[in-house]
Amino acid sequence: MDALDRVLWKTLLEVQQLERDLQQKKAWWHAYEKGDLWAKEAQELLQEEERLKALKRQMEERERERKRLELERLSLEEDLKKLEKRAESGLLRSPKDYESYEKQKAALKQGIARKEEEELERMEWLEEAEKALSRGEKRVAQLASKVREVRAREEAKAPAIQEIIREGEARLAALKEAIPAEVWGEYRRLAPGLGGQPLAPMRKGRCTYCGVEQPVAVVQRVQRGLWQQCQHCGHVLVPEDV
Ligand SMILES: [Zn+2]
Repeated sequence: MDALDRVLWKTLLEVQQLERDLQQKKAWWHAYEKGDLWAKEAQELLQEEERLKALKRQMEERERERKRLELERLSLEEDLKKLEKRAESGLLRSPKDYESYEKQKAALKQGIARKEEEELERMEWLEEAEKALSRGEKRVAQLASKVREVRAREEAKAPAIQEIIREGEARLAALKEAIPAEVWGEYRRLAPGLGGQPLAPMRKGRCTYCGVEQPVAVVQRVQRGLWQQCQHCGHVLVPEDV
């Protein structure tokens, strides 16, 4: 390959820079279109909503239990009243009747107390759950507003980034026109193995990519504008004054 003039080296460096910028911007755009830029916040929101849904289901279940226990207690209380009424109306005759009456009464009272205890337990649980629910609802509102905020912020950037991509691509196309096919072919051939960035400026006789000092003969070839790879890392060295 013939020596490249400084203008061509400048063009190649600009192409390299533009390609890197465009790659970043396009990655941003891709993430933006997929909604990845606020995915973390959206995920947190979803998890919190799911957690609250589960809590509400649990609360409904406990409330049903509480109501069932209440009905059972009321029914026991009714039985107790009937039992007492029977006793009051003088239906108890023998000591055996009395004994049986006392036994039944004690059993009913015990049953009622047990239901009350269980009801209370459900009520206390429900009270705590109400508080947790209210905290959760506040958190959901905060997370939802966070999602909206991040999304709005990224959406505000989008038009400018789209414009940068459009202009960058037009500029890149124009620059490529000015590069001889042979040079461009070499650039493209080397790019994939060098992270898409095959050029490294030379400074004070060293490759700026790997820092290795180049032999005098290499420095001279680079300064003449010849296509010369760093002997250590393989990047194409750009003359010092470009
Ligand atoms: Zn190097």
